[in-house]
Amino acid sequence: MPVKSKILGFDMDGVIVDNSQLKLKIAKSLGFNLAPFQTPAEIIKKIMAPEMLRKLQLAIYHNPLISIEAPLMPGIVSLLGEISSAKIPYFLISRRLEPEIAIGLLKKRGIWPKYFNESNALFVITPEDKNTNAKRLGVTHYVDDETKILSVLEDVPNKFLFDHLNVFPESNNYTKVASHEELAKYFL
Ligand SMILES: [Mg+2]
Repeated sequence: MPVKSKILGFDMDGVIVDNSQLKLKIAKSLGFNLAPFQTPAEIIKKIMAPEMLRKLQLAIYHNPLISIEAPLMPGIVSLLGEISSAKIPYFLISRRLEPEIAIGLLKKRGIWPKYFNESNALFVITPEDKNTNAKRLGVTHYVDDETKILSVLEDVPNKFLFDHLNVFPESNNYTKVASHEELAKYFL
């Protein structure tokens, strides 16, 4: 057992899976030539009009044939391996509205059911649901790629912003990490 008992929580999109290339491709098909640094959820929504953004989200999160193309974030498999070897409890808390599509992608990438499965994966609706569930599960450390999610996780003591493109500012509200190797320093 770890010296201090941690319970870890992971967001899925932008943390476990990397949708940035898919976003570039779909945005391009909608007439937007974006750069990779413009793909994080909180930045792209300032660039694309709501109806265009909706089309992009429908493609990436609701179309199983497109969703399945997303690769894993580099380093996540080794981090999950180390976390499981260390017997640190961990959970996936995602706002994917169609869990079967999310699970299909995780299966395809080889991390379901090996690292995530029905016993440690939760699919919720609102940012507040993430906080409620994190609290119920006793999550001590949570990683997300959206600052607005971290800002509602009032009951999680240690919050991490996964910012692999290094586009967000430092903040007192979270610890910024740019890779899973860096996250490992806090999660292991
Ligand atoms: Mg996310």
